[in-house]
Amino acid sequence: TLPIVPAFGRIGEENAFAVLARATALAAEGRDIINLGIGQPDFPTPPHIVEAAVRALRDDHHGYTPATGILPLREAVAADLGRRLAVEVSPEEVLIVPGGKVTMFMAILMFGEPGAEILYPDPGFPIYRSMIEFTGATPVPVPIREDRGFSFSAEETLALITPHTRLLILNSPANPTGGVTPKAEVDRLVARLADHPRVAVLSDEIYAQMTYDGEAHVSLLQYPAIRDRLILLDGWSKTYAMTGWRLGYSVWPKPLYEAARKLAVNSYSCVNAAAQWAGLAALTGPQDCVAAMVAEFDRRRRFVVDGLKRLPGVTCATPKGAFYAFPNITRTGWKAKALASALLEEAGVATIGGPDFGIHGEGYIRLSYANSTENIARALERMGDFLARRK
Ligand code: PLP
Repeated sequence: TLPIVPAFGRIGEENAFAVLARATALAAEGRDIINLGIGQPDFPTPPHIVEAAVRALRDDHHGYTPATGILPLREAVAADLGRRLAVEVSPEEVLIVPGGKVTMFMAILMFGEPGAEILYPDPGFPIYRSMIEFTGATPVPVPIREDRGFSFSAEETLALITPHTRLLILNSPANPTGGVTPKAEVDRLVARLADHPRVAVLSDEIYAQMTYDGEAHVSLLQYPAIRDRLILLDGWSKTYAMTGWRLGYSVWPKPLYEAARKLAVNSYSCVNAAAQWAGLAALTGPQDCVAAMVAEFDRRRRFVVDGLKRLPGVTCATPKGAFYAFPNITRTGWKAKALASALLEEAGVATIGGPDFGIHGEGYIRLSYANSTENIARALERMGDFLARRK
């Protein structure tokens, strides 16, 4: 075999894509599969956003844009953050990227090297750990616990910081748990970060606009004390049902911005121009499409949690954000990955086993409720039958 560099022996992936492929293959064989595996809105992108992309293509927006993104879009991101979070952001701090994932890729590349330690939520988005391992840095999982409503614990996080810690990754609202970190906890964390001035923070806020039960989203951008070492990750994928467009943005402190811009120039040059114009229409157009999607997710959230609680051996904390339920399946007697696999193969319901999100994910499975209420009802019925039959 060709001698590819060893780092590729350490890179992981996202099992959600493997589950999607298996679910698609089963469906192609004629099986009726209900997909609660993949984390993406089931709505189409709102029509005024699609129209803006079509218009951009007709208006000859066919060439490279600046590597950092078109200026009107960076201005719109800064204005949107100003409106939503009451913070001042300059378009010079905003980088347009091909999806939220690219921000974490860049940030982890900037701080990861052998000897460095990077803290990340566990269970959490699997790419954090994968990329940390790729760089040769030491991944340090921060346990995210059900008995705290799947919120980050400032205390537990701070206890894991050592002189080798270079980056702390936060995610609220969270994938896969739906947990939202309350303001008091963020306040505590930020106050104590003053003792660790060399630790950078990557705050993944891709689900910022999806919170429920009056739970307010707290952005790390709202803390001036750490602004000079904060990288904010957000984008259009979840908020505007645009996962396939590959469009995201980040806010960087000045010295890191330059490094990120160079990574862009060295890899993808710029984001697809038409997608950028669509992103501009999303931010400057009517926002009722977002409110309508979130209201629908909220209805399904209550429906799925209610249903899960009735399944034999299953308990489920009520998620406060994102569009995932993370039921505790310990008392069913199943191991999480075996259950997820059996549910797909035998009951035709795709979910993801908790261990795909980290060692602290054992005992849980993740269901995405970005699917119709009708499909969720059918899935719950199948799960109930399955668990009654296969104890
Ligand atoms: N961050 C989290 C927590 C996610 O769940 C996801 C997508 O599933 C992403 C980032 C990546 O978003 P994008 O599709 O914009 O790359």
